[in-house]
Amino acid sequence: SSVLEIKDLHVSVETEQGAKQILRGVDLTIKQGETHAIMGPNGSGKSTLAYAIAGHPRYEVTSGSILLDGEEVTEMGVDERAQAGLFLAMQYPVEIPGVTNANFLRTAKTAIDGEAPAIRGWMKEVKTAMDNLRMDESFASRNVNEGFSGGEKKRNEILQLELLTPKFAVLDETDSGLDVDALKIVSEGVNRAKDNTGLGLMLITHYTRILRYIKPDFVHVFVNGRIAEQGGPELADRLEEEGYDRFLVDA
Ligand code: ADP
Ligand code: MG
Ligand code: MG
Repeated sequence: SSVLEIKDLHVSVETEQGAKQILRGVDLTIKQGETHAIMGPNGSGKSTLAYAIAGHPRYEVTSGSILLDGEEVTEMGVDERAQAGLFLAMQYPVEIPGVTNANFLRTAKTAIDGEAPAIRGWMKEVKTAMDNLRMDESFASRNVNEGFSGGEKKRNEILQLELLTPKFAVLDETDSGLDVDALKIVSEGVNRAKDNTGLGLMLITHYTRILRYIKPDFVHVFVNGRIAEQGGPELADRLEEEGYDRFLVDA
């Protein structure tokens, strides 16, 4: 089984005023099959961690490392990261004009596996996954995320997650903007991916709501670019009651 190790990670972001240090020494190890919730106040650096793992060009790893089974992820291109088994769902999913959802999924699957999936079995898999996520079949022939509502984009992310069967997934605020019914459908999809493929999950969320449906094994609280506290699911319960105030006293 695989392991994703983040070691003393420092990351800066490119801004108009120059580079700004955001992550200041993050240590985190996720094994396949584990779910880690990354929580914390707005601006604490949660998305920065996601972008650094994804290889977003504006985010520079200034020191430390991200290792997937001992291999340095920060030296991989974005496509290589996907081939190595990483799945990154961003807070603001991109639209891809001129590329249908079905073609995108097949191309991504082919790139990741190194060979095209057999067409019949694949079509069936896509249809089943879309049915499970209560997505109308018309979404297969629509351009990726183009004109999708916020909730539809989130479902589409989970569709990708279920079909591309990565080793590790980073989901950034997948719960934001979802009503309860959509949250349940999306969470069921994530739980299927966990059950079926032993997915290792980094679930980034400001709110505890999604953790009622996707149970974390570990909870880490980000404050000011570092992990300020970690624990088990009970830490999320405490945050639900108390909020983040006690972490911000001398911030
Ligand atoms: P979170 O996801 O926890 O809300 P972020 O990682 O988005 O936090 O942001 C952490 C800090 O980095 C914030 O102060 C934010 O303003 C800053 N930051 C992130 N991205 C950029 C950017 N592209 N330009 C300027 N500042 C940024
Ligand atoms: Mg935020
Ligand atoms: Mg964020």
